[in-house]
This record gives sequence, C-alpha cells and structure tokens, in this order.
Amino acid sequence: MAFTRATGKHRRPSRLTRKSASMAGVAALATTGVIGGLASPALAADAAHAVQDTGLTEAIVIGDSLADEIAAQADQQKRAAAKAEAARKAEAERKAEAKRKAQAKAEAEARAKKEREERAAKERAARAAERKRLNSYTLPVAGSVVTTGYKTGGNLWSSGSHSGVDFRAASGSSVVSVGAGTVVEAGWGGAYGNNIVIRMNDGTYTQYGHLSSIGVSVGQAVTSGQQIGVSGSTGNSTGPHLHFEARTSPEYGSDMDPVAYLRAHGVNV
Ligand SMILES: [Zn+2]
Repeated sequence: MAFTRATGKHRRPSRLTRKSASMAGVAALATTGVIGGLASPALAADAAHAVQDTGLTEAIVIGDSLADEIAAQADQQKRAAAKAEAARKAEAERKAEAKRKAQAKAEAEARAKKEREERAAKERAARAAERKRLNSYTLPVAGSVVTTGYKTGGNLWSSGSHSGVDFRAASGSSVVSVGAGTVVEAGWGGAYGNNIVIRMNDGTYTQYGHLSSIGVSVGQAVTSGQQIGVSGSTGNSTGPHLHFEARTSPEYGSDMDPVAYLRAHGVNV
C-alpha cells in the first residue's frame, strides 16, 4: 500500500514523497473508481488534503523564495542607496571642506598682500620723509630773523659791503646746518671769528660766523637742522649775532644772496 503515512499527520512531506503520494492517490482513484471503496475514507481524505496542501505549500515555497529574493534585492538596493547617499555626503563634505580651505587660503593671501602693501607704503613714506628731511633746508637759528641784509654798505666790512646776512641770535643760541652736507672748514676765520663752512649736498656752500664755540670738525657729515655750534660775537663783530653766507665755492668772495638761497630751498625767511 502506498499510503503508509499515519492519518492526521500534517508534517510537510518532501517534494518527491508528495509527488509520489499524489500519483498514488490518482492511481488509487482510477483503480477503485470510488473513494468510499478505499480501505480508509480518512486516508483518502488525507490524500486529497495532501495534494491540496502540497500545491499550496509549493505556492508558498515559490512565494517565499520570491519574497526572499525581492527582500534581498530591496535590501541590496537599500544598502546601495545608503552607500550612494554616504558617498554623496562624503563628496559634499569634501567639497565643502575644499571650499572652506580655498576661502581660508584666499583670505590669508589677501591679508598677506594687504600687509605687504601696507609695509611697502610705510617704507615708501619713511624713505620719502627721510629724503625730505635730508633735502630740506632750515633757518640756521630757529625762529630768527635777518637784522642786517645782504650787500648792505658800510665801513664795517672789508669789502665795503656785507657778503652775507646777519641773523638775530642771543649769545649761546644753537646754530644748525641749514641743510645736509659735509664740513670743509671749522676754526678761526679772522674777521669771521670762529667759523664753519659746509659743502652742501647740492654743491653749494654755507658759512656760519662769529660763533662762541664750534661743535663739528672738518670732514664731518651733517644733516639739516643738526647743531654745528653756538652763536657768539667772535671776530669782527659789534655784538652777538650769526653771520651767515651762501657761496658757490668755499672761498670768501663767491657769495650769493643768502635770503634768496634759503627761499629757493623752501625756507621761510
Ligand atoms: Zn654779518
């Protein structure tokens, strides 16, 4: 007998068993013609149930594997999507970071450029100020005025006329170089008393006379406004003042108008 399975057993049979059971069931029906003719109606019912059950079970089996497959695919897609999303985020972060870095770099470069420019501007300004200071001229006695003009006549001067100008200067006033130059004479100058002659950087000469004391020596470089001595009344002088000359050479007699000379160099006199 093909139906050896105990009745009421619903354990799912193997695929092969189910197939043979089904075929056996059909064979049984064909042989007997009547289901009731079977030895056990319960067994016949079980056989029919087994067929039904088998079909359903297979559908479920197929459905299970398909569902599994779909689930697996969905899972894969989900993972792929998550991976793509993570990659997209990472790329976006990388781009954002690169942008931030580029921005920071650009800002740092801009700052450095600005600092360089500011430094260069300061240096230019300092050089310009230094040039101006070196090239600028000033009064030989600060705040002084001319008391005796150039070429003033009188028997006080050996040449018969004044070869320079006299600046008012109380004894002990600071006498400065009117501009940058080099000392070419510093000492006793006869009628000039203690006197200094400076070769200016533009090739002209200036002379300072009747000093009570001399503060520089020959060969010394001086800047505009630098003190070179103290005013007095040495030499052929009627009282404390500064005798000042502008010359084309270091020699007496090569004088030019000191007021015009100072004015030409921007001095308010
Ligand atoms: Zn004089």
